[in-house]
Formats: sequence, C-alpha cells, structure tokens
Amino acid sequence: MRISNLGYPRIGERRELKWLMESFWEGKLEEKEFLSQAQQLEEQHWRRQQQLGVELLPVGDFSLYDHVLDLTLALGLIPQRFAELEDSGSLTLYFALARGARGIRACALKKWFDTNYHYLVPEWEREPRLVANPYLEAWRRARKMPGVAGKPVLLGPFTFVKLSRGYKDWHRALESLLPIYAELLEQLATAGVEWVQVDEPALILDLELRELEAITRAYTYLAERNTPRLMLQTYFGSLTYYQEILRLPVAGVGLDLVHDDRHNIANLEHYGFPSDKVLGAGVVSGRNIWRTDLRAALEFLQYLTGFVTCDRLWLQPSCSLLHLPVTVAGEEGLPLELREALSFADERLQELRLLRAALTEGEEAVGDEFRTADRSLKALATMPGRVVPDVRRRVSALGEEDFIRDLTFEERRQLQAEKLKLPLLPTTTIGSFPQTPSVRSARARFRRGELSKLEYRDFIRREIARWIKLQEEIGLDVLVHGEFERSDMVEYFAAKLPGFALTANGWVQSYGSRCVKPPILYGDVWHRENLTVAETTYAQSLTTRPVKGILTGPVTIIKWSFVREDMEEEQIAYQIALALRDEIAALEREGIPIIQVDEPAFREALPLKQRERPQYLLWAAQAFRLATAGVKPETQIHTHMCYADLEAILPALEGMDPDVISIEAARGGAELLEQLQRYHFRRGIGLGVFDVHSPFTPMEADMEEFLRRVLTIFPVEQLWVNPDCGLKTRKEEEALEALRRMVNVARRLRGEFGK
Ligand code: GLN
Ligand code: ZN
Repeated sequence: MRISNLGYPRIGERRELKWLMESFWEGKLEEKEFLSQAQQLEEQHWRRQQQLGVELLPVGDFSLYDHVLDLTLALGLIPQRFAELEDSGSLTLYFALARGARGIRACALKKWFDTNYHYLVPEWEREPRLVANPYLEAWRRARKMPGVAGKPVLLGPFTFVKLSRGYKDWHRALESLLPIYAELLEQLATAGVEWVQVDEPALILDLELRELEAITRAYTYLAERNTPRLMLQTYFGSLTYYQEILRLPVAGVGLDLVHDDRHNIANLEHYGFPSDKVLGAGVVSGRNIWRTDLRAALEFLQYLTGFVTCDRLWLQPSCSLLHLPVTVAGEEGLPLELREALSFADERLQELRLLRAALTEGEEAVGDEFRTADRSLKALATMPGRVVPDVRRRVSALGEEDFIRDLTFEERRQLQAEKLKLPLLPTTTIGSFPQTPSVRSARARFRRGELSKLEYRDFIRREIARWIKLQEEIGLDVLVHGEFERSDMVEYFAAKLPGFALTANGWVQSYGSRCVKPPILYGDVWHRENLTVAETTYAQSLTTRPVKGILTGPVTIIKWSFVREDMEEEQIAYQIALALRDEIAALEREGIPIIQVDEPAFREALPLKQRERPQYLLWAAQAFRLATAGVKPETQIHTHMCYADLEAILPALEGMDPDVISIEAARGGAELLEQLQRYHFRRGIGLGVFDVHSPFTPMEADMEEFLRRVLTIFPVEQLWVNPDCGLKTRKEEEALEALRRMVNVARRLRGEFGK
C-alpha cells in the first residue's frame, strides 16, 4: 500500500510564488533569478511532501502560472496573434499568453471545473506538436534528490481537448494529440519513469457515448506504445461510465471517493475493481478543509482491502491539494475547537500516513492520533455557535409565504416607476468603485492599528462623499456608495456574520498570482449587527437621487467559502438568506429604495452533472427569494451576475423573481441576447455595455452600437445602462471617463427613443 499525492499548492506557504511572479513582472527580478527561485520553491515542496510520507510524489504539477498553459505550450499551440513574440524568449511568450502583451489579448481564463481555480483556455489555431517536455525536466530534477520517486502529472488528452477551443472537430483534435502524447510518454519511459499520473477529470462529466468511444480508442492507442505505467486519475466526482473506464488498458485508475455522492463507492461495491489494476483511492478531501473522520475512513479502507489487495492500493487525496491552503500551523487566531478540526494540505498528507499505519499495523499503533482526531471532530460539533437554536427554529418555521413577494413583478413595476421616477434607459453601476492605493493603504493601516476605528470610518465616508458627488456630476441616475469598506465581497460579510471565521494565511491560488482567502463557515449564520446600513444610508443622506444598497447573495457566499459538511448547502443558504433578509429590511426602513443582491457565483455553483442541476437551481433561486421577498412592492430588487453564459440558469432567473438584473454581455454578446429573447425575459435588464476588465477606455460608438442592437430586441422601457461588473480594479481616471461616455450614449438614445 503506497501513499500518493496528486498535486501540491504551488503558490507556497507565504505566497512565495506570487511575490516572485510580481517582482519578475515589475522588472525587479531577472529571468534567471526568477526561474531559479521558483525551482527552489518547487524543490522545497517536494522535500516537504516527502517528509510528510508521500511515496508517489507528484512532479510537473508545479507551474509558473498555470499547468494547463504549460501543456499548451509544450504542445506548441501558440495562437497566431502571439507569433511575433515567438522568438522573444520563452518567458516573454509564456506570460504574454497568460496576461496579454501590448495590443495582444491574453488567452481566456476559465474556471477549472467547479473550483475557484482558473486555467488558461488552449486555442487550437495550429497543429499540435511536441516542442518541450517539462514533465521529464521536472522528473529529472526531482530524481537528484535522494530517495525520491517522482510521478509526473500530466493532463490527459481527452480533458485537454474538452477544455480547449478553436478546433473544427474535437474528434480529429483528439486523434491528432495521440502520437504527441505517445512521444512525450515514450521520452518519460526511456528516462526510466515508472508511473505517470494522467489527469482526466473530464471523465466525471456527463459524457456522450461517442466521447466514451473516443476515450477508449485513445487509451488503447497509448497502451500499444512504450509508455510508463499510467494512473488514469479522475476527480471532482464519480465516473459516469464506471465499468467502461475500468476496462481501459491502463495500469491504474484513481477515483474520488469523497466528493462523489457515493456513486463511485456504490459502483465499487457493486462491480468491484479489476484485479489487474491499481486503485488510487481518494479517501481524504482535496477540496474542503475539515479533518477526515479517520475511523470512518479506516473502516471504509478495511472494507476496500477485502477486494483490492494492499499491493494494488494507493492512498491519496480526492484531488490535487492545489485547492487547499498549505498548513493550519500558524492559525492561532482561530478558536481552538475550530483550529483543531481543520486539515489543510500538509495535514491531509499526515492523515494518509495515519490511515496506512492503522491499516497495516493496527489501529493501536496510531491510537493517540485517532483519538485526537475523534475528539476534535466532537469538539467541533458542539463548539459555541455551531448550533444556534433560534436560527434552526426560524429556518424550520419558514412557510411558502416567506418566499413570495406581495405582488407580481408586473404589478410591482408600476409602483416602482411611480416611486423612483427614473428616466428611460436609467444609468447605474454595479457597486464598487476603484480601490485606489489610498483606499488599500487606509485599510491596511486600520488593520495594523495605525488608524483608529473612527479615523477609518471617516476616511471611508470621505471616499463615499467624493464619489456621490462624482456620480452626480457624471449624471448617473441610480447611485452606489462604492464599496470602499470592503476588502472582498464575501470576506467583508463573513467578518460580520456569526458562524464564519477568517484565517490569517489560508491562501489558495485563484489564477496566476491572484489568491483568495476563503472564509470558513463553521456555524449557524444570523444577523447580529447591521452589515451595510451605515455606509449605504450615509451615501443616501448626501443625495436626492436613489442610492442602491449592495449585498452579496447566499450562493456566492457559500461558493467562495469553505463550508461545514454537517448540513445541506440548501439549509446553509437559507440561514444566510435570512441574515440578508434582516439586512435588507433594515436598509428599507432607512429609506434605501433599491437593493441589489449580487450572485456572480450562481452559474459556477451549478453542479457538473446534469442530474444534480434541477435540485440546485430550485434551492438557489429559493434562497434568493427568501433574502429578498420581505420588502415592500415598491422597493426594487436587483441582482447581478457576471458571465454571459446564462442558458443553463435562465429558468432559475425567473424563479429568483428580481425586478432588474444586470449581466455581463460585452463578451457573450449575440448569443446571450438570443437566449433572453427566446426566453421572453420581461424584467428590467442591464446588459453590461463595457468590459470593466479591459484596460482600454470604451468608445462611445461601440457602446452605442451595442445598445442599438439590444434595442432591436427589447423594448426601451425594459433596459438599463451599466458596465458589466464592478469598477474596483480600474484606475480612477479610467472609470470616470468610461462612465462619462456611457452616460452620454444613454442620453443620446434616450432623446431618440423617448419621443
Ligand atoms: N458589487 C460587486 C462589485 O461591484 C459585484 C462584483 C462581482 O460581480 N464579482 O464589485
Ligand atoms: Zn460582476
């Protein structure tokens, strides 16, 4: 029985890789120095995993930016627009693909399955060929370390094609990759590599039969070549075609036995496991942070060893540990019961070692550790705040009427129009204004205690006042306070809501050098204090125009946090929704006429498998309604989502019953319009007229052309005019200029369509 790892957090315990990248980009670090320090970090990570007992050590999973990009470049798939950079040295080209270069658009970033990690989407404009083998290079470096058996980690051809765009025929694309993979794998075999982990997470998606056939052909092809032994690694759920995949001619199959709704486990029980393969048993979570229930895992493994012999069993995490922070050590600020119940990447690897010891030497050999784990989980279950009876009672007493607004959308529209008296094509923004260096430094100084609470509050107030004035000058119709007090749209709420804890150093890579520090939701959530009332009402006190209150919705809060596992997400969502409902009531009482509940994660929280989607959409929409349905008919409820791919959630959008929705459209354009039209969407709608992430100030002509197109589809009374997301990442001057132009366009069209 061996201990294997699938991947390790590359960003580093102190976000070393982030700082290295950024110094290099700023020209403070020479390329050679950057590469050598990054390699040192990678090697430290190897040593650390080895000390923690990993025997099959992942190599090649480390990346200077993104592992999908590494493979894209190894396969020579350089989009045409980067051709001029091809001879400019490898890192210039590499980071140009990742981040764009002067006048050249970067590759698209996309969510890696249902995680918060983003990969760079490969674009097929050329025929792939093998131009480098970074896996061999990493393996060779690892081999220099005494006693290390590196296991190269390589994204499999099927998943690679599935995540790519730009080919005409995916089938042909896959076929064209096979000889290249064969060559790459042969190089590894010749060098003496024993095992390669071929990641194929796409095997857990709903696959069509012809996809399964193509996968079978692909792995049969590779089996006839000279390759190391292949561990076909799947994760993020259960296999759709269990029996078929297990029949593939590979030496091992890795299964996620934690996050799979028990389908993998049920299939294991029902169909068993082939005696000629190694089972990579993902028995500890690579996605969530709670300690493993070691006794339950041990019992499961004991059962498993009944039909998989120990020499064919690898103990491993359910997926790469990329999605976890490095270690709990150093989180002294957390309540003791909570801290003891956590397990980040390093602690996960320790759990694997304990499980193996218990399996091979008997539980007594590690009895102390098992008892500690047991005690910690019990302490967590009973820790203060875990169960708040009032919260439980309130949720269970909910009735249908709590989810329904008093009047229908059509009836409300009239009342809201009378109250708000907005012009045609009302202009607004999504909520945040630039988080300038001075805003960030004020927050940092406040955190370090250099600014008093009062000084910080006054600073925020000055920013709000300044921006209310700016918005009035620009001529926006519905104003916002600017979100200057928020470090992050989830963390800010988590810091104020009971049931959440914030880590000191729990960073996880989101993309490139960007990291997130997800809050931990461990207890029942309720509205103990106002969350946004002070800033919002202050803003409203400065203007006669309506100010829109901005909150983050339940699904987004859950999706961007690490959440408890002793409760259904649906129940957690209702608790958060009730807390927001109380906040919204408070805002309404204070005279805030419009409230926006942001749900940017609504789409990405959609389960990967079709069969689980209807249920999710139902409760997710219900949670939104629970948060918002308590308001008077004349209070206008907005929601915001920032992606164009709405198809899958359109029905839920109706179910949320908002008055107005703002969505990104700058990138998704025509298709989205068609979808909305087909769906007879009747509510207020603001399609982002410019892309807030673009460094170029939008042109009036472009915005106007876009709006005219939209106006051929929707009646003018239905439309709002706004950017496609918050402006917090823009420079102040850029934001102001973009908004001025946007208002000009709205006014022009208003004159024309309003006769
Ligand atoms: N209100 C938020 C903002 O403007 C919304 C951010 C988002 O949708 N991701 O920043
Ligand atoms: Zn957005």
